Amino acid sequence: MGKRKIAILGSTGSIGRQALDVVSQHRDLFEVELLTANNSSELLIQQAKEFDVNNVVICNEAKYEEVADALQPEGIKVFAGMKSVCDLVRDGDIDIVLTAMVGFSGLESTVAAIEGGKAIALSNKETLVAAGSIVTRLAREHQVPLLPVDSEHSAIFQCLQGCGNNRISKIHLTASGGPFRTWTREQVAAATKEQALRHPNWSMGSKVTIDSSTMMNKGLEVIEAKWLFNVAPDDINVVVHPESIVHSMVEFADGAVIAQLGHPDMREPIQYALSYPVRLSLNNRKLDFAELAKLSFYAPDREKFPCLDLAFESIRKGGNMGCIMNAANEVAVAAYLRDEISFYGISDLVADTMAGVNFVAEPTLDDIFATNESAKQHAAALLKERKR
Ligand code: MG
Repeated sequence: MGKRKIAILGSTGSIGRQALDVVSQHRDLFEVELLTANNSSELLIQQAKEFDVNNVVICNEAKYEEVADALQPEGIKVFAGMKSVCDLVRDGDIDIVLTAMVGFSGLESTVAAIEGGKAIALSNKETLVAAGSIVTRLAREHQVPLLPVDSEHSAIFQCLQGCGNNRISKIHLTASGGPFRTWTREQVAAATKEQALRHPNWSMGSKVTIDSSTMMNKGLEVIEAKWLFNVAPDDINVVVHPESIVHSMVEFADGAVIAQLGHPDMREPIQYALSYPVRLSLNNRKLDFAELAKLSFYAPDREKFPCLDLAFESIRKGGNMGCIMNAANEVAVAAYLRDEISFYGISDLVADTMAGVNFVAEPTLDDIFATNESAKQHAAALLKERKR
């Protein structure tokens, strides 16, 4: 493959750091054109120097001077704010944009990158949850590939290579089950954030780790899969697989199931998205099947994890409901991390917000931004009432 110029949006987060690890192993194949971070100025400065980056954006404008003072003497251009991120990914000399920022904030810059004709390595799942119909239509119009980085979606994407025009009958989306898989509902109800943050298999940022403990993460991934692979929600089967070795599976009309396997290591799907369709070497742990011995699979406990059905409900409803659910979940997870609500306070707040915000059947992008604001306000107001 020829050298690829990449932009990493959210380079100081878990996915961003692992992406730079991938780049460091293939310096001859990747050139880092742009790094962006929300707040972590120190790490951003260090990364920009190490990878000899051309442009950086610090989204928090209060930290601009600190970053500029450190990097401008090195000949690195420094910008601040989300508008700069959008301008640079739309107009910059970039082949592929890795969208690894947290939450709804990833939508605006992803849209800008698509409008600029850049390939998208999609890690920010909230983009498709909130605006799947708009983002996938834009990607088609601009003939831009959406290359999944989420391990499950990368697995499905890999399972589909070489399948021609054969339609998917079913997607089997695997879930680790999170830290509370074997707990009773009563135990889960009293779970502290420290317990929820202890994920058994994957090391991730705090938002996605809490989402994994509620299984909202799997719900968001169901919606993401629907948009990426154009399958009906009823054809997406969530299966709990505690070992996290099978990263997901695709079933065809004849009942044949194709799976993608590996030890849990996000660098693998990140690298595949960045180098697609080429497979590069990776210094990860390889599978030893004799040592694995046993892989287990269970149906998810939908009573214990109500967020899963909330996600199915939102995708069946369509319109702006995914956006409402996602906004409420962002507010609820932040409140849980501040110890303001209990574990089931998260799903309660999401359900009540979904019931309380105006439904729009065919939203525009502006409607989505407005919905995100009103859903957040609605959730925050409910939260305030509950704290009293
Ligand atoms: Mg995942």
